[in-house]
Amino acid sequence: QVLNDFLDLKGNIRVFCRVRPITVGDNFNRPRPVVALGSTSLQLKFAENKSKFYSFDKVFALGSSQDEIFLEVEPVIKSALDGYNACIFAYGQTGTGKTFTMEGTADDPGVIPRVIEALFKQAADINHTFLFSFSMLEIYMGYLKDLLVPQTRKSTDVMPPCLSIQTDSKGEIEIDNLVTIQVSDFNQAIRLYRLGCRFRSKASTNSNKSSSRSHCMIRISMTCFDANERRRITNKIWMVDLGGSERVLKTKAWGRRFEEGKAINLSLSALGDVINALQRKNCHIPYRNSKLTQVLKDSLGEDSKTLMLVHVSPKEDDLCETVCSLNFATRVR
Ligand code: ADP
Ligand code: MG
Repeated sequence: QVLNDFLDLKGNIRVFCRVRPITVGDNFNRPRPVVALGSTSLQLKFAENKSKFYSFDKVFALGSSQDEIFLEVEPVIKSALDGYNACIFAYGQTGTGKTFTMEGTADDPGVIPRVIEALFKQAADINHTFLFSFSMLEIYMGYLKDLLVPQTRKSTDVMPPCLSIQTDSKGEIEIDNLVTIQVSDFNQAIRLYRLGCRFRSKASTNSNKSSSRSHCMIRISMTCFDANERRRITNKIWMVDLGGSERVLKTKAWGRRFEEGKAINLSLSALGDVINALQRKNCHIPYRNSKLTQVLKDSLGEDSKTLMLVHVSPKEDDLCETVCSLNFATRVR
């Protein structure tokens, strides 16, 4: 039933909002301006009598669990096994829990390990043969970097050549030379994921928040053969931990930090523009405005399923960014 609801939905995008819990380092005594009202609305309190209300397909309040999130993500797995391309995005300001949602922790795994596990499990119950393969890349300053290739260069070196993006005769996107490794079980896929994460941090500069200035993208491609191995469908599911959405002009970043932030801001607004144009069924979809949307071109749109998980901070200090994130979320819905 959940699946049918998903397929029947106007358009093919669902937008969820998750509010990060109060954590160590937050001031517990400050007012809490972000209030979840029921399971689909959110109230932002700017002052005693000034509020703004937002509604989404689902709102996950401060104490929401990884299980609750996964329950809402699960229909995408069925769609993927049915042959649809799919994208799952984590959007939000740095520190709002994007990586927590996507990767989770060893004790409390997030969307990525759960989706991979469920894909293998559910594929085994289907009377067709599936072949899965795994790729992982990063988009940094408009460059595509393969995360399954060791990054030996130091951050001071020039950038390695950017992988190039091609469209084949069927309109499918090919990323030239992107390492794609066939995986036959959960453990193999997770091992590659961990490897990609290691290469990601190694390639970064000395600042430990480097992950927020690039988009990290995981692709699980699948080919399905029917009983007599004739009919073949190839499709993919992307899971994307987006760069931090904080507006660079409001931060005090300068030099390289400023350029990195600017690149992230531009590609996130390009993503918003593409999804918005798709929702409005515009005839021109501005895919070409960023590497992010070029890579995802065949996975966003009518025949695809999109999940946008927008993350916000519970803190009063972050209210401005929270408004921006919720406006983004409203615009793509
Ligand atoms: P982002 O990737 O958006 O920058 P992180 O996922 O790194 O943010 O989260 C920032 C911090 O908050 C981390 O220490 C993370 O463990 C914690 N955190 C975020 N969301 C949750 C949550 N839902 N429950 C518990 N801890 C969380
Ligand atoms: Mg992160």
